Amino acid sequence: MKRVGAHVSASGGVENAPENAHKIGAKAFALFTKNQRQWAAKPLESKSIDLFKARCEAYGFEPRHILPHDSYLINLGHPDEDKLQTSRDSFIHEMERCEQLGLVLLNFHPGSHLNEISEEASLDRVAESINIALDRTTSVTAVIENTAGQGSNLGYKFEHLAHIIDKVEDKSRIGVCLDTCHTFVSGYDLRTKEAYEKTMAEFDKIVGSTYLRGMHLNDSKPGLGEKKDRHDSLGKGKIGLDAFGFIMNDPRMEEIPMVLETIDETIWSEEIALLYSLVK
Ligand SMILES: [Zn+2]
Ligand SMILES: [Zn+2]
Repeated sequence: MKRVGAHVSASGGVENAPENAHKIGAKAFALFTKNQRQWAAKPLESKSIDLFKARCEAYGFEPRHILPHDSYLINLGHPDEDKLQTSRDSFIHEMERCEQLGLVLLNFHPGSHLNEISEEASLDRVAESINIALDRTTSVTAVIENTAGQGSNLGYKFEHLAHIIDKVEDKSRIGVCLDTCHTFVSGYDLRTKEAYEKTMAEFDKIVGSTYLRGMHLNDSKPGLGEKKDRHDSLGKGKIGLDAFGFIMNDPRMEEIPMVLETIDETIWSEEIALLYSLVK
């Protein structure tokens, strides 16, 4: 079945995330396991961990349906050695927190070259960062998200994702998350059945849909190829509702978390119901 949810708040403790997801009728969810705008974090308390696990089980959220997102500060392709090291340490720390929570995925944006090194050199650093993190942990899969291609951010071409995957040693613990807004604004059309199939065929050919571990379901304020990251509510933006119907009926997206990051969280429950209504 399709697993639709949203990136819910974990404020007050990670154990509140499954509660918040359940309340809006979600069958999957995303969360930050620490404050996404700070490097430091208090260790997870065992009480929090136990409650998180118990609630996930009670509400039917399996680890593969939960897509934690890392901090916005982390840049695994950083051109500066010291700052790269800080990012790598922080990423490992995030993976360890996921492991403590019994989670198996960690979603992240590849990184930015900051116009100081080439795209290729920065992508190589990202791959090396992932190799280090996978070596230091045991059970979490690193899930690379495609990006809008704003500024010097990498990951706006399927070739970037393929470049990283190619250099990751343990292919069993690397995956991809496609964000519909990022896909569209980076130049891959999704609006008609024909365009959707063409984009997904390209993804299959360049990356491989066996690597697909999650989706972010967002409509887009900018138009096709505008390379700006501005999400919109489903059906209100430039992508339109049809694309989400194609996704809801695509066997490639079975049993992976599909997470809303749309701008109006007060209508998430309606958006989730709307998505399920598109299943034929
Ligand atoms: Zn996203
Ligand atoms: Zn975005």
